[in-house]
Amino acid sequence: TEQTLGRLAEESWSRFDDHDSVYYEGVWHRSHALAARARRMCGGFAEAGIRPGDRVAVMMANSPEVPIVYQALWAAGAVVTPVVFLVGPEELRHVLLDSGARAIVTSPELADTVRAANVDLPMYVDTSELERAAERGPVARDPDDLAALLYTGGTTGRAKGVMLSHHGLWHVAKDAFELSHQKGKDRALVPVPLSHAYGLIITIASLHATEPQQAVLMRWFEPGAFLELAAGQRVHYATVVPSMIHLLLAEPLEQHPLPDLAYLTCGAAPLGRQTLEEFERRMPGVQILEGYGLTETSAVTTFNPPGRRRAGSVGLPLAGYTITIRDGDGEPMETGDVGEICVTGDSLMLGYWGEHEPDPEGTALAGKELRTGDIGCVDDDGYLYIVDRKKDLIIRGGFNVFPRDVEDALNGHPDVVASGVVGRPDPRLGEEVVAFVQLKPGAEVPAEELIEWARDRVGRVKYPREVRFVESVPLTSVLKLDRKALRSLLG
Ligand code: ATP
Repeated sequence: TEQTLGRLAEESWSRFDDHDSVYYEGVWHRSHALAARARRMCGGFAEAGIRPGDRVAVMMANSPEVPIVYQALWAAGAVVTPVVFLVGPEELRHVLLDSGARAIVTSPELADTVRAANVDLPMYVDTSELERAAERGPVARDPDDLAALLYTGGTTGRAKGVMLSHHGLWHVAKDAFELSHQKGKDRALVPVPLSHAYGLIITIASLHATEPQQAVLMRWFEPGAFLELAAGQRVHYATVVPSMIHLLLAEPLEQHPLPDLAYLTCGAAPLGRQTLEEFERRMPGVQILEGYGLTETSAVTTFNPPGRRRAGSVGLPLAGYTITIRDGDGEPMETGDVGEICVTGDSLMLGYWGEHEPDPEGTALAGKELRTGDIGCVDDDGYLYIVDRKKDLIIRGGFNVFPRDVEDALNGHPDVVASGVVGRPDPRLGEEVVAFVQLKPGAEVPAEELIEWARDRVGRVKYPREVRFVESVPLTSVLKLDRKALRSLLG
């Protein structure tokens, strides 16, 4: 059959007997009922005038509706444009206008944000309205057609639309499922937003499953609720981002034994080696499996397979991707050498939406290779290690300081929850290293102690000359460290 997401969804709906599929706010939803809703919703979209190729924005907090809205839209031939539910009206307005969205589907508590975006287009707050239509199966689509238009996190600048094809998402999700899945470990706790590239790929990966999968969905992450749900629903694994691990480490983990939990998949932002080790020490039996990717690579590029995990590495490339490390002149480098991570493979994005001018920062498809803007190296066995982002590099008196090294050192301090390091313009040195630190509740540590702690670990050049305390380290709408916000705090 043609490898499109509409067909994949339809095929998955009849693959298994009816079973408990999604747990949400105290209720298990059955797989066949969800499938029937998706089929009717597909009819509803068609009746509402949504045609193949139309972009439809989906800005919803996690709920069992989100995957069925995606599946219904793919079956209707539409292009899903997910918007992370934490974005404000201005960013939403940019996405709606830039994508030329034909409609938006949202959740009741987000309807005000959508209204405030002030874009004239149909809004579906209650999906039951769309589910009154007659059931409809998927329309024909080409695997190279657009399946999703995702706006990058905007961690480093203005959000750009990334065009992902049915083919790319289909293959990346299949590879990711096959690399990560462990037999019998079919119940996942999902606190990451389904409206982010990571969550989107989790949703599609489950459609490739060869055993019935079960998802315990969190509307949003909260560490106490995470531990309670993981225990109460006896989940086998969870899909997290590093900031969630930082928050979990501030909890009394020892009082929450989770004998069924085998692993966490973690990606989207750097996770320090120290953080990984502390978590695994305090949660014996649970492994953190790191992966790495960009929206431009359909979310996943590399992943650490269970049983073959290398701590500190972000894993091996998916079957469809090849990684080359290049130097400043674009020449390929030797194994082990540190340079820019470049990716080739036919699941890469089709390009940026609206034929945006070539990205001046350099993260654009050069020929058929993606220059990621990330710096790293590959070991003899092909495992990838991320050093940092090119754009975040601090140059202090001519020396390169990767903020990540300094953050990892600070995060290793027993009283630190999280930290963020940026460069402050300095007339003498070009830039000076400044750290923002979030302490554990009730902890009191003088700044000098943390400065010394970091100096003992990263050496005399890179250590922060200034430590400022913040109540919480600012995060972007996809829960990554928000360096733009930190820089603005520098004043
Ligand atoms: P923008 O591209 O607009 O700045 P963004 O960086 O948040 O936004 P995404 O596509 O969501 O866009 O994120 C991709 C980036 O996330 C990668 O380029 C990399 O810097 C970072 N990243 C993802 N996974 C990891 C990981 N495991 N370790 C370190 N960094 C990671």
